[in-house]
Amino acid sequence: MATVVALNAHPDDETLIMGGTLAKLAAAGHHVVLVVATDGMMHGDDEPNPDQRLDELRTAAAALGAADARWLGYADSGMGAELYPDPPGRVRLARAGVDEAAQRVAAILREERADLLVGYDAAGGYLHRDHLAVHAIARRAAALAGVRLVEATLPREAPCAWFAPWADCASARRRPWPPHAPGTRRRGRSRTGSTSGTRSRRRSKPSRRTAPNSRRRISSRVHCGC
Ligand SMILES: [Zn+2]
Repeated sequence: MATVVALNAHPDDETLIMGGTLAKLAAAGHHVVLVVATDGMMHGDDEPNPDQRLDELRTAAAALGAADARWLGYADSGMGAELYPDPPGRVRLARAGVDEAAQRVAAILREERADLLVGYDAAGGYLHRDHLAVHAIARRAAALAGVRLVEATLPREAPCAWFAPWADCASARRRPWPPHAPGTRRRGRSRTGSTSGTRSRRRSKPSRRTAPNSRRRISSRVHCGC
């Protein structure tokens, strides 16, 4: 039996994005460990219980059959243009470096003797900044720990169009994260035939009609049986 560590951005992502697969793995006897980067909370005045969503994560872990649920210690970075100040005692994931978070994930991978890490594709599902961060963190952590990585994706066109209608969803999936970090800009022809770093930046906002090109990047599909 294998040990599978699933890294997600917020509590509930483990259920929404990969819950069927994780439940099926656990039911088959595999050791499934949930890891969330953030607590999923903005910590506003209307959120009296700062651990509410972490509590919900533990309930979800039990329902999915996961052996454990861990939190990397960061707060939610939010979805809008403004990155709010850090709440007391917590740092928003967007202010933490990829290296720091990846080191924490790599330590868990080593401790659990993980065989597989599940992260996100380059769009993080729907371009939430914490999901984009998790994409980069998972890649770095897998390399640090020498663990195989698979990247989950949503049915891409619909969530992106629903949650981030302003975004260039198609080109975002070809864009490295963080977008302006030195040494991350890739050149050369992408699998969709455009040149990243130059031509793609001049593209106008795509309509949904451009999105099916991203299907070419889906390497495999896992049916949850539900
Ligand atoms: Zn999320």
